[in-house]
Amino acid sequence: MRDSFVSAIMTAKKWMMKSPNLERRTMNQMHKQGLEGVSRRTFMAVVAGAAAANSVSAQQTAAAGAITLPELPYAQDALAPVISAQTIGFHYGKHHQGYVTTLNKLLPGTPFVGKTLEEVVRGTAGKAEYAVLFNNAAQIWNHTFYWHSLAPAGQGGQLSAGLSAAIDKSFGSLEKCKEALADAALKQFGSGWAWLVAEKGQLKVVKTPNAETPLTQDGVKPLLTVDVWEHAYYLDWQNRRADYAKAVLEKLVNWKFASENFAKA
Ligand code: FE
Repeated sequence: MRDSFVSAIMTAKKWMMKSPNLERRTMNQMHKQGLEGVSRRTFMAVVAGAAAANSVSAQQTAAAGAITLPELPYAQDALAPVISAQTIGFHYGKHHQGYVTTLNKLLPGTPFVGKTLEEVVRGTAGKAEYAVLFNNAAQIWNHTFYWHSLAPAGQGGQLSAGLSAAIDKSFGSLEKCKEALADAALKQFGSGWAWLVAEKGQLKVVKTPNAETPLTQDGVKPLLTVDVWEHAYYLDWQNRRADYAKAVLEKLVNWKFASENFAKA
């Protein structure tokens, strides 16, 4: 049985590389090799193993050139009820993915082929001829940073001692810091972002329009962000952006992520 299993794995991997119709082909091949005795559970394990091998291969191919959509750091329903699975389904699955798809169509023929995402964002910032490239690249970076700025309620960890002291020094208290972020989220006119950043030892709250990002500003280190584009909250909160921002800041901030960013600032 063990020899049959090993043989089946080898067969499945071989066929997975050749054919998208893996299950049918693998079953046919197993029959040819006299492996009818292999159980369905074993067969599915073989398929899963082959699929995993194929997935690694796909990632390696992608890493060679294309920009990929990073994994969401939690399940799509993990931020509910503040941010519903439906919102994340569209926001991550359609908007964030859309920026990735568009950027990969725009990159060929530019000097940014093979560059990292950060290099594309920094290299295109402020250059009118690359405005569309910048918008898509920066939105990919901003959204990935946003997903990591959030955590399921109760799982956002603690402020580090260093960030806690810096917040007290710059804002007076954590509550005042959150109020400043909520105010920036509300007052950003139209689409954009509210950010907590570190600059020259000071913490500041800033807001940016559209795809603009503090990543491109010299000496400025983003610590956390709140997306205030309407697609971030409209399904759950409709026009109540202030309530969305307040709920995010009260319940979903990943203070561990912000603390790690501050430690690198
Ligand atoms: Fe967004």
